[in-house]
Amino acid sequence: MASTPEIVEFQGTLEGSGFTSALLRWAAKSRRDLPWRSTRDSWAVLVSEVMLQQTQVSRAEAKYLEFLNFWPTPEDLARVQLSELLKFWTGLGYPRRARNLHQAAQQITNLHQGRVPQELDQLLQLPGVGPYTARAVMVFAFEKQLGVVDTNVGRLLARWCGNSLRPKDAQELADKIVAPGQSWDWNQGLFDLAATVCTKRNPQCRSCPVESWCAWQGTGKDPAEGSAGVSKRQQPFRGSNREARGRLLSALAQGSVEMSDAASVMGLVDEQRRAVQLVNDLRDEGLVASQGDVLLLGDLIK
Ligand code: SF4
Repeated sequence: MASTPEIVEFQGTLEGSGFTSALLRWAAKSRRDLPWRSTRDSWAVLVSEVMLQQTQVSRAEAKYLEFLNFWPTPEDLARVQLSELLKFWTGLGYPRRARNLHQAAQQITNLHQGRVPQELDQLLQLPGVGPYTARAVMVFAFEKQLGVVDTNVGRLLARWCGNSLRPKDAQELADKIVAPGQSWDWNQGLFDLAATVCTKRNPQCRSCPVESWCAWQGTGKDPAEGSAGVSKRQQPFRGSNREARGRLLSALAQGSVEMSDAASVMGLVDEQRRAVQLVNDLRDEGLVASQGDVLLLGDLIK
C-alpha cells in the first residue's frame, strides 16, 4: 500500500535537513537513566518490556532488578511454579502478563535452547508477545533496524505529520525514519522526547529539538487524537474488575481464601454474581485454582 500524502510530505521535509542528527544530539544529552537501558541481554529486555506494557516506569523500575535477581535466565523462571511468580507480581497489576511470561520462559527453554529468539515470527509465537513487544526486543536487545511504536511514539508521529495515522502507517513511518545503524539510540530518543517534551498535554514545543520539522507545533486541534496507538481514556480503577481481581490475588498471595469469602475480599459483597464470574475468569486464566471451596493461587493444586 502506498504511503499517505502526510507521510510522503513529512519525509520530504527530512531529506538532508539535519532532523536525524538534531534528534540524536538531544537524545544523547537527555537520556533517562533506566536500568533496562544498561543491558542488551535479550531476556532482561523482554522482562522489562512485559513489565512496561501496562505499568508505569517508576513501578516497573522498582521490580525489574529484583525480578532478574530471582530469575536471571528463562530457564530459571521456567523452573518455578506460577504461584511463586504471581506472588512476586503483586503490585504490578495485570497478572495475566506474569502467566504469559512464565509460559514464554518455558517455550524459550524448550524450543529455543534458552535463548530469546531474534526473528519477528518466532517472537510473536511467545505468549504475551505482540507486535510492539516483539519489535522492542528486536531493537533494544538485537539492535535491528526497526521503529518501535508505543502509545507515546504514536502521538509523536501523528504530530510530526499533522494528521492522525492508522497503525500500519505509523509503523511504516517509524521504520522509515530510524537513524541508520543507530536504532537503539534512535528509538530510546523518541521514547524520551515523547515522555518528557512532546507530552500528551501541554507539549513543550518551544524547547523541542525538532520543532521546525513538526507539522503541528502545538497549535489547533491535536492530530494525535484518535490516531494509531494513542491511548484512549482509561476506565477508573476504583470499582473496576481490575481492582476486584487484584484484591483477590493479593489476598491469595498471603494464603488461601474460602470461596464464600471471595466477594468480601474483592469488595463485592453486594455483587455476588459478579464476584463468582470474576473468580471463574481467574480460574479459566490459570491464575486461581480451587480445591473444594478453597481458592489458592495459580498452580498450587496439581
Ligand atoms: S514541536 Fe511540539 S508537538 Fe511537535 S514534536 Fe515537538 S513538542 Fe511535539
